Amino acid sequence: MTATPGAHAPASARSAQLFDRASAVIPGGVNSPVRAFGSVGGTPRFIASARGCTLTDVDGNDYVDLICSWGPMILGHAHPAVVDAVQRAATGGLSFGAPTESEIELAETIVDRVASVEKVRLVNSGTEATMSAVRLARGFTGRTKIVKFAGCYHGHVDALLAEAGSGLATFGLPTSPGVTGAQSSDTLVLPYNDLAAVEQAFAAHPGEIACVITEAAAGNMGAVPPLPGFNEGLRRLCTDHGALLIMDEVMTGFRVSRSGWYGLDGVAGDLTTFGKVMSGGLPAAAFGGRADVMNHLAPAGPVYQAGTLSGNPVAVAAGLASLKAADQSVYDALERNAATLGTLLGDALHAAGVRHQVQFAGTMVSVFFADRPVTNYAEAKASDTWRYPAFFHTLLSRGVYAPPSAFEAWFVSAALDDAAFDRIAQAVPAAAAAAAAATPSS
Ligand SMILES: *Cc1c(COP(=O)(O)O)cnc(C)c1O
Repeated sequence: MTATPGAHAPASARSAQLFDRASAVIPGGVNSPVRAFGSVGGTPRFIASARGCTLTDVDGNDYVDLICSWGPMILGHAHPAVVDAVQRAATGGLSFGAPTESEIELAETIVDRVASVEKVRLVNSGTEATMSAVRLARGFTGRTKIVKFAGCYHGHVDALLAEAGSGLATFGLPTSPGVTGAQSSDTLVLPYNDLAAVEQAFAAHPGEIACVITEAAAGNMGAVPPLPGFNEGLRRLCTDHGALLIMDEVMTGFRVSRSGWYGLDGVAGDLTTFGKVMSGGLPAAAFGGRADVMNHLAPAGPVYQAGTLSGNPVAVAAGLASLKAADQSVYDALERNAATLGTLLGDALHAAGVRHQVQFAGTMVSVFFADRPVTNYAEAKASDTWRYPAFFHTLLSRGVYAPPSAFEAWFVSAALDDAAFDRIAQAVPAAAAAAAAATPSS
């Protein structure tokens, strides 16, 4: 992967210096792999601050932010109501290790927005949410096997890393060293959007499958929505075979509608996981669902789950303030902004004569260099991903920060304004031309 010919890269000397310094003490220089720009090449930009829809790096460059911290920042950065709530919470103490009233409020807000969720447990990351939900599903059913779909990412849980999309896709890893056969052998990995495969799995393993976990709409192989009837079919098969359905809404939850993907298709998971938007940008996540299942969790029941910082008052304040501020006008703006972004990308790529698909999963957007809609991980991997580095770097050099991987969704915020869209509109023709000029070996 090389720099894009013809792009005038903005100054990145200070970022380069920090990346060197970071690499001496942090593996790969980053605390989450995709941030390292591994699949697009070049120097990852170190961010100094962010406000609204703008990221500012340590060299003083501004970027229109189209990753939104990988989902959470639907209101834009440093939203006054969220910052104020965080400051007030912090003044009252950072962590108690004892219950607080605001945790109830956040749980009530989630239960109120997502009708399939009757009880909620707060955790610190989406990874913890899915890990705990799978443990609970196994504890509740007394079964061991789990079904997941190739290209769906559920955090870096050992049993869920097989063909997991996201950073693993970026780095071309089928799974991770360090995950033992015992941890992965109870995981059945099936193609996304393939109900017949799920039927066959239930037939081949009668009474053994504890749960099916799926992204409510896939976003970690790029935005790949469930085909009509897929989520409904999973619901029916799980019910018929006594398995639990875990809807992973860590990415879609409270982003694609006020009730997440559940608000769009109404398919109820027995358990649902949340993170990202519900945290307001601080470390908080949750899992919840049917009361009879959730009551199996300690201390109400025997399935152990805990966390020193779970329900942290500052993180809860950020999450509550974000959800309160995310009213219908915010969701309307997200829909408008996703549609506008998709149109700008599609028009420019069309004009440049590059075969492409602009795909949506709700308000999550993706560009695939393919001539047919992408419905699963095999199709995503078969697309012309080698065009993406040139596309990405041309946008970056013109002040637009897209995901640094062909396999990640693009995230809009309600803070995107006319000036931001003007900048995107000016950048995409050159990016499309660079994608058109790219070759598989460039
Ligand atoms: C981001 C994500 C996770 C993991 O959340 P972390 O907070 O990064 O641990 C799990 N599931 C989905 C669908 C995600 O997008």
